[in-house]
Amino acid sequence: MDKHVAIIGTAQLSQVNPSLKNPVEYRKSGLSLNHIIGCPLDCSYCVRHLFGNFDQRKPLALMTDEQAFEQLISHRYFQPHITPIQLFNRATDPMLPEVKNHTHKILRLLDQSGLTNNVLVITRWRVTPEDCVRFNALSNIKLTILVTYSGIDDPEVEPIKSSIAASSLGVLFKHAQRYRTLLYWRPIVPGLNDSVQHIDRAAQLARHAHATVFSGLFYRKEIAQYYQSQGIPEPYSSTARRKLLPLEDEKRLIRIYQTHTSSAPIFRKTSCGVAYAHQQPDYNGHFGITEICDICPSTQFSTCKAAWKKPDDALLSSLCKSLGVQGEPVITDRSIVVRGLDEQRRYFLQHTLGYQVHDIDKPHHYERHGRSEAERNT
Ligand code: SF4
Repeated sequence: MDKHVAIIGTAQLSQVNPSLKNPVEYRKSGLSLNHIIGCPLDCSYCVRHLFGNFDQRKPLALMTDEQAFEQLISHRYFQPHITPIQLFNRATDPMLPEVKNHTHKILRLLDQSGLTNNVLVITRWRVTPEDCVRFNALSNIKLTILVTYSGIDDPEVEPIKSSIAASSLGVLFKHAQRYRTLLYWRPIVPGLNDSVQHIDRAAQLARHAHATVFSGLFYRKEIAQYYQSQGIPEPYSSTARRKLLPLEDEKRLIRIYQTHTSSAPIFRKTSCGVAYAHQQPDYNGHFGITEICDICPSTQFSTCKAAWKKPDDALLSSLCKSLGVQGEPVITDRSIVVRGLDEQRRYFLQHTLGYQVHDIDKPHHYERHGRSEAERNT
């Protein structure tokens, strides 16, 4: 019999962090649906530390899949065929045995509605050939399955064996027809999983992927506190708002990876890897951040270049007015710079226009886009 997740009881719901109670949230990669919370996989760097939810190991549902689907497509910033969607990327793994039927159900509901939006499913758990049959049966949505793989073999940091993700990637790639699959190589922590052997292994796995995306560690205060409480050696001496990966480490990693010429192309940004895999321009409009594109294959570069245009003044002005931007937006060759918009309204603007939108008070510096620098602990 198919496994399912139970609906959370009232008493337990009252204990849940308020930010986890709202199942739909606009994040950088699009509208994120998270009506199931709880995960037994225990990755030490999990974002659930930020919501005080790390100890909830049993997944529970906040509502039915139908209710969650309705909330998603009726969200004030949802745009059919435009808004990228992510499923279960904040508080559980979408391919856990008891969660995956809900994942398939939501995918089917989206697809049956005739929506052609990009949909991202990120997992580090087991994917079977039967799952692939269900993914291939979807005919409208642009589905990408991203397989999180780190190569970290310290069970204190990551109790789940990386071989599970490696096997899932192989299964997904072998059966891919209507969907695409990415090696999501993360978190990369200098000194822990960035040796030449680690990089070679990731590149070999990427022969069974349509693209590779890498990123550093999201090292926030709550995660640092967990490392300290468990006696896990801290990789950095400070925490940061964005993901950490020193520039020199990034350059070295790319250089070694690219010696493997039969591996899938590597990207710095999730949306760029998804764009390449589906042969579409980057929906996050990273093309203006030119230093991101230096590793992009020329065919993909041309696709983004052809689609890249500064937003129409009148359209931008009316959108900014309706969203409540303070003062006038500034358009540069790299981005639209605004004041007074929270993240979800900035991302709505970004996905509507296919152009980066930055907050004037949180500047992005050259070669530091979406990446923080920090001192490594040696
Ligand atoms: S050209 Fe630049 S923006 Fe487009 S996919 Fe490549 S790296 Fe991303």
